[in-house]
Amino acid sequence: MHEDDRGRTDTVTVEDMAATPTPGLLRRFLRLLTFVDLPIKQKFLLLAIGTLFWFGSMAVVTVFALTAIQYKYHLVSEQIMPHDLAAREVLSHLQNIDRDLQFIGPTDTGADLLAVQSMRDHVKAIRAVNARLSLRQTGSSGTFIENVVRSLATTSPADLQYLQGIMAVTDRVDRALDSYINAKRKLPRAIDPDAIAAAIDDAKEQVARGVALATAHSKSVAEEYGSINGQIYQVIRESVNAILAVLLIASTLLFFFVRWIIVAFQRPIATIIQQIDSLSTGDINLAKKVAIKSQDEIGTLSKKFNSLVDSVYGMTIYKKVIEEDASLDEVYHRLGDVFENDLGIPEYTIYDVNAQKKEMRVAHPPLVGDARLHCDLEVLSDCGQCRAVKTGHKVSSFEFPGICRRFVPQAGVGHICIPLMAGGHTGGVVQLRFAADADGAMQDAAAPQKLFNAETYINQSLSVIEAKRLMQTLRESAMVDPMTGLYNRRFLQEHTAQIISGVLRRKTQIGLLVCDIDYFKQVNDTHGHDAGDQLLRETAIVLKSAVRESDIVIRFGGEEFLVLLMDVQSGDAVVVAEKIRQSIEKLKVTVGEKVLQKTISIGVAEFPGDTDGFWQAIKYADVALYRAKEGGRNQCVRFAPDMWQHGDF
Ligand code: GH3
Ligand code: MG
Ligand code: MG
Repeated sequence: MHEDDRGRTDTVTVEDMAATPTPGLLRRFLRLLTFVDLPIKQKFLLLAIGTLFWFGSMAVVTVFALTAIQYKYHLVSEQIMPHDLAAREVLSHLQNIDRDLQFIGPTDTGADLLAVQSMRDHVKAIRAVNARLSLRQTGSSGTFIENVVRSLATTSPADLQYLQGIMAVTDRVDRALDSYINAKRKLPRAIDPDAIAAAIDDAKEQVARGVALATAHSKSVAEEYGSINGQIYQVIRESVNAILAVLLIASTLLFFFVRWIIVAFQRPIATIIQQIDSLSTGDINLAKKVAIKSQDEIGTLSKKFNSLVDSVYGMTIYKKVIEEDASLDEVYHRLGDVFENDLGIPEYTIYDVNAQKKEMRVAHPPLVGDARLHCDLEVLSDCGQCRAVKTGHKVSSFEFPGICRRFVPQAGVGHICIPLMAGGHTGGVVQLRFAADADGAMQDAAAPQKLFNAETYINQSLSVIEAKRLMQTLRESAMVDPMTGLYNRRFLQEHTAQIISGVLRRKTQIGLLVCDIDYFKQVNDTHGHDAGDQLLRETAIVLKSAVRESDIVIRFGGEEFLVLLMDVQSGDAVVVAEKIRQSIEKLKVTVGEKVLQKTISIGVAEFPGDTDGFWQAIKYADVALYRAKEGGRNQCVRFAPDMWQHGDF
């Protein structure tokens, strides 16, 4: 509560950024970037979105790479390979035709027809191969991606040119063979060897062209194959790099995010757990505050936990301190300090109730200066007038305006009176006052929390207040003579220092009267001990009423009384003593059927007028009393220095 070293560590820093003081704007930007102050739910939503984004990026790169590879592969399998194979086949057929052409000529060799048949077959085969190639371009079956790829892979102009060239060559070979057959079919006489030779030459020339075409095509296809292979390799290499890069970025971000989550979540929670453990064992380390790094729920939790620890600690310390306080009023004083300094309730009054006398007094803060009581003064002399005392319940004007008629109405002020209940009775009342609006409702939004805290402190104090009250009663009873109700010698012993310091500070005198009833023994002997007691009780009443409220009457022993006349001037004491003597002289005590009348002898001294020693002054008064007895009793004798020097005492 009162320790100032429990400075709050509410400083907000972004982890690992606090090495150099960052300007406000940059700091705010960084906080925005790291989502520090976003609520936890949004943080995790962003984490999920981020993770999804990077997963998506990986998928896009992978799909793109695979599609590219598939496209290239498709080119190889659907274009290059068939073209290469077809070119080889065409080449082989052309070579066969070329060979067969050796076996035909103007003269019949017998192999003519067979060779022509063979060439016709090869021509047919070449046409079939070309037809197969043309067909391949239009087919569409397979997966979506395959179809997309296929639609992209249109036949190149070079391929088309080749196909047309080969078809033309094939047609012309076919036609040359027709011309050859026609020339040969003529009657032997009509056969024109030149026409035959020309047909054969034409065929040979076309075959040579076809071979050249097929060879060139095969070569270009092979080159294309090589280049596509290179492209596939490049696509694979680039895709692997892209995937690795995405993986690196994603895992780096994930690492930092996870680390940040550990810092933001795990550390404060671990500290809170540690503090809870130490709370349960009672040794709280207040230096170990939960650092507040964010404005999210964790930050709020940390802040609230810190203030909880503060209040629990404050409460623990408070209880310890008030237990060690010497008196009830010190406890009230301390409770008032808590209201004022820790809870922010400057307007309050603590009343102490005297159940026996049915009285109430202001215990704290003292009514000094122009301070006025907020309740009717009547409550002080009759505590039953106080609603909180009477009912034993909390009395709040905020719940029911004007509930207590003893509260002096004041614009803008409401009251909550909390009875200090202990052992079934009200030992006191705490009145808290808060600002009220025109309708009598609370104006301070923090008031309910303040009230709750105040009630917690009050509840913590109840047992201590009760114990102190009991102790005070015990102590008081040990210092009070039960028969006369006067203070006894022990009271004087305990309060000597206090009495002396007051008188010395005020530079006044204490008149000391040592009074002894004359021939008291006779009362006992003649009328009995009870009559003696009765006389003592009534003498006590006379003594009390003969002096001021602030004076102290003590039963010093037996039938001897000591009266302390506070703050008198020199010479006053003898006058008061004489007044007392006369009052006693007039006192008539009825015992049974008899009426007793006694006198009293009084020795008078003054402190510090006669001596610096307080107890010495009492001795002086005693010496004077001795003189009074000697001098015939029923008289007052003022001490004089020569009485002591004579050494009579
Ligand atoms: P003197 O004028 O010299 O004072 O004569 P005295 O009889 O008063 O003599 P003394 O002071 O010696 O007597 C005190 C007597 O008071 C002795 C004791 O029996 C009696 N006494 C002391 N305390 C009490 C008490 O509490 N009740 C009663 N009844 N008598 C008491
Ligand atoms: Mg005596
Ligand atoms: Mg006497």
